[in-house]
Amino acid sequence: MIKVILWDIDGTLLDFRPVERHALLSSFEKICPGDCTDAMLEDYSAINRKYWEALERKEITKAEVLVQRFEEFFGKYGIDTALAKPFNAEYQVRLGDEVHFFPKAKETVEALKQAGIRQYAVTNGTKVAQDIKLKRSGLDQLFDGIYISEVAGYDKPDKRFFQKVFQEIGNYDKGEIIIVGDSLTGDMRGGNNAGIHTCWFNPQGLEKHVTVVTEHEIKSIDEVLSVIQKY
Ligand SMILES: [Mg+2]
Repeated sequence: MIKVILWDIDGTLLDFRPVERHALLSSFEKICPGDCTDAMLEDYSAINRKYWEALERKEITKAEVLVQRFEEFFGKYGIDTALAKPFNAEYQVRLGDEVHFFPKAKETVEALKQAGIRQYAVTNGTKVAQDIKLKRSGLDQLFDGIYISEVAGYDKPDKRFFQKVFQEIGNYDKGEIIIVGDSLTGDMRGGNNAGIHTCWFNPQGLEKHVTVVTEHEIKSIDEVLSVIQKY
């Protein structure tokens, strides 16, 4: 029986894309006024993803991800790369301005809470952005706890991140815990490393490009309700 759900936040419960767009555009306005086109945003997205994947492979630190993604992006568009640091600081704050749930995501978390399932956030985001976001979304009231890698000292998929979580949530069998997330290399591999059940949120039907075990694959968050019935 599943008693605990570990939820990824960005790209799983919350749709990060509209928020990222807002945060980038408003940071641009403040830190480096000038054109920021849709094509540039698209390009940034790809650069950003590359850096977070490098973090998951432990090739780079979180602090490096945050600044270097903007340095690379700015370099490409002839913007002063010295602005990357202040730009990121502004961007982290602006990320908390808006929240967008995926369809049925909040209702699902509420239903699971009603059903007595313990729910925890497990996220690789930064503390400053996640704190504001979780509060604004009301998720902080629904979760039994929040685990941010920056605070834990390890990022998903590192086994030690999950060990910290297990130490604090109390005595559960690994078979009673499932992680739900959109990242194969962070969430699903993390779940595999930690020896817990895995549910891949894949709303766009992407190809599985890496070797990880995904016990369940869902397109809509409310499918989690039936997934946990299977145990
Ligand atoms: Mg995610």
